[in-house]
Amino acid sequence: MQAGWHSLLRRGGRILRDSAVLMWTSASIGTTYVRAKQMAFFAAPALSGKLLKRNNYTSPSVTPDLNRPRTELASVSQGHNTLKVRWRDGESDEFPYVWLRDNCQCPACFLRSASSRLLRVADLAMDVRPREVQVSKDGYFLQVVWENGHESTYEADWLNERAFNTRQQSVYNNTYRLRPELWDSNMSQRIPRASFDELMEDDAALLKLLECMEVLGFTVVSGARREEGELQRLSERASHLVPSNYGTTFIVKDKNDASNVAYTSHGLDLHCDLVCLHYKPCVQLLHCITQFSGDGGDSILADSHRVAVQMRELYPQKFRFLTDVLVNFRDVATDEGFQFDIIARRPMISVRPDGEIKTVNMSTFGRDSHFGVSPEEAVSWYDAYLTFCDLLYRPENHVTFKLEAGEILIMDNLRVLHGRTAYKDTAEGERRLEGGFWDWDMMRSRRRGLQKKLAGSS
Ligand SMILES: [Zn+2]
Repeated sequence: MQAGWHSLLRRGGRILRDSAVLMWTSASIGTTYVRAKQMAFFAAPALSGKLLKRNNYTSPSVTPDLNRPRTELASVSQGHNTLKVRWRDGESDEFPYVWLRDNCQCPACFLRSASSRLLRVADLAMDVRPREVQVSKDGYFLQVVWENGHESTYEADWLNERAFNTRQQSVYNNTYRLRPELWDSNMSQRIPRASFDELMEDDAALLKLLECMEVLGFTVVSGARREEGELQRLSERASHLVPSNYGTTFIVKDKNDASNVAYTSHGLDLHCDLVCLHYKPCVQLLHCITQFSGDGGDSILADSHRVAVQMRELYPQKFRFLTDVLVNFRDVATDEGFQFDIIARRPMISVRPDGEIKTVNMSTFGRDSHFGVSPEEAVSWYDAYLTFCDLLYRPENHVTFKLEAGEILIMDNLRVLHGRTAYKDTAEGERRLEGGFWDWDMMRSRRRGLQKKLAGSS
């Protein structure tokens, strides 16, 4: 069988090889070849009803995961605009016809190598209806012949994973984004930690870090070398560094003519970084290369999403002010010869459509003095803002610690606000950190990839 496939692919040349993925409907090589050829030229979507009736199709294109129980279909029936599906376990689901047609997995409609739809909108109509529907004898496939003769085959597993029910939708929601767990000062007792060397070598450790970042929003990594370049090394393994107006990485220390308040020894209010950028960096890394040995230079963290939720509960009207009024955030300076003047206009608190907090835009030093509201509105806004700050600065909302040399603090810049206590640097005890940013899209992509990889190897 395998040899047959290979010689078939050779015979068919490039087009057939590229179309190998579509050889899913028939157990017979001969029929597969004819089908593949038809599909390769996208010539004949209309297959004869005979194929449907043979009932012997299997799916060589999808590598079956033998460890996983395969979903089986029991029966299907046609409703007004949905297909009603009953599974062997007795549960049932409905699939809209227009959705089924839109998601046909045949090679003319779907490019498997790109996991992308090829079907054009012009070929999708609201009144699309099946002419025939049938479940394979083994229950693993649903086959639909549409009124125009186009034929679609859906694997039962594939359909089940996409069922329009809350259970399947919550599985996908977890793939999309892990649910955050909001925290308060009790987190001081269980600061999430990871080891640099383990992250570099062990996929499970890296996955744990990425999951922790989504759920808790910060981690302290220990055991990095006390030199520049460690963020680069970790980023090559975990995500990738996203440049900003301060470069791809930047050094945080007390500098003459500082281009940023962070580059001084002043204390810093709780803030997130670079609110002036419309694409505010998602995640910040701070690698402590050397730490100030005297008092000061401590890091303070707060879960701004928790504080925002408190604000919404206690002061709903003031909360609305912070979500509705647009604030200007601006950064004007010259850093390492690069002159910039960057402005972003955004509310202090952004909420997702489902009501979850999306981000808190807080930066005492990054907020501009220009304010595009009336004086009365400005007064009301300050009242709301200072109320929020009262909540934010309650010790019950803080985690405080002092980073040690060789530690990297990783923080969700959309959620975890960070501050610093003032320190008085000396020539001997120079506090020096290297900073950089990651991006949530790439981090979640890495998390999904590792989840698949580790699930496959267990
Ligand atoms: Zn199709």
